[in-house]
Amino acid sequence: NNNGNQMNEVAVKVAVRVRPLNNREKLHQHQPCVRIASDTNQLVIGKDKVFSFDYVLPPKTSQNDLYQNCVKSLVNGLFDGYNATVFAYGQTGSGKTHTISGCKTTVDDYGIIPRAVETIFQIINTSQKINQRDYIVKVNFIEIYKEELKDLLDSSEKDLQIREDEQGNTIIYGANEVSCSSLEEVMACFDSGTLLRHTGSTNMNEQSSRSHSVFTVCVEQRWSDSKSVRESAIYDLRQTQTNNSYYLGAKFHFVDLAGSERVQRTGNVGDRFKESIHINSGLLALGNVISALSSDANQSKKKVHIPYRESKITRILKDSLGGNSNTLMICCVSPSSCNLDESINALKYASRARYI
Ligand code: ADP
Ligand code: MG
Repeated sequence: NNNGNQMNEVAVKVAVRVRPLNNREKLHQHQPCVRIASDTNQLVIGKDKVFSFDYVLPPKTSQNDLYQNCVKSLVNGLFDGYNATVFAYGQTGSGKTHTISGCKTTVDDYGIIPRAVETIFQIINTSQKINQRDYIVKVNFIEIYKEELKDLLDSSEKDLQIREDEQGNTIIYGANEVSCSSLEEVMACFDSGTLLRHTGSTNMNEQSSRSHSVFTVCVEQRWSDSKSVRESAIYDLRQTQTNNSYYLGAKFHFVDLAGSERVQRTGNVGDRFKESIHINSGLLALGNVISALSSDANQSKKKVHIPYRESKITRILKDSLGGNSNTLMICCVSPSSCNLDESINALKYASRARYI
């Protein structure tokens, strides 16, 4: 694309993050099966399979490096009205949760969510003094398990519905939205939701590895000075004006996807299906949407159908994938040779997002 039109830019970027070998893998002397040539965007897996991505992050990549290089610009975009989505894809144990939320014990281990929220409040605190706008930060937290929605910020198990307003914004009707005024308040919501995710299930590992969680942070701005309105397509789209009062809102989705491993289907489905291999339907639909978006962005003449309606996860993310929004897929892989097949599958999935 060379006309500088935002709508036609490749809206999806893909990062691959290879985690370090863990202690168990070291103990069993697993060999690393992934090589990354320095200063390239290429990764070699197995004997000779080569993949290239927008970012290739070796095991030594810190949480801060990943945030600064791949995510921070998406946070800045929120304040200009661009929605954003970061999702982590990969088999269970590959580092998705570490990447998206991180461990809470040391600040260095903080993942993307606390870092992004910290930036959001920093930007608000510095710009508020200059532009005198009112800022509101709201969060919600949803889990999708077997195509059913659960509100992780409300234990009352109300019914949630995905709807679209006249401007094309996706709304989760019935979801509890919590206003927050600091990093600590946002993280308290995140922690209580994470707890609800685990206590509600009979088999904690099963559910958390097969469910998607979507933590959403909305930033709303209100002001009355018409001089500070900038001209851009996105302002028309997400800004409303009533009398002398202006509004601009955008949201950031942080998505910890279900494990990408293919599970053997067992149970009451009859012998013939016992061996069939089942992939989470949401992951399948998301892959189709991302792939359609990247081919759409590269063939501006032909309008490609984007199959958002095929699953709950793609319906929720509809207004925040492609178009006037920024999307980063982080494909997490284990370096161990014992995970070679699943890692190759994950890399194939991620490369569908890149038009070649
Ligand atoms: P997933 O969410 O994909 O199932 P986790 O994020 O829970 O995987 O990671 C599995 C384990 O590996 C955790 O103990 C986590 O702390 C550790 N881990 C994952 N990625 C990294 C990394 N980049 N550096 C250090 N430890 C990691
Ligand atoms: Mg996890």
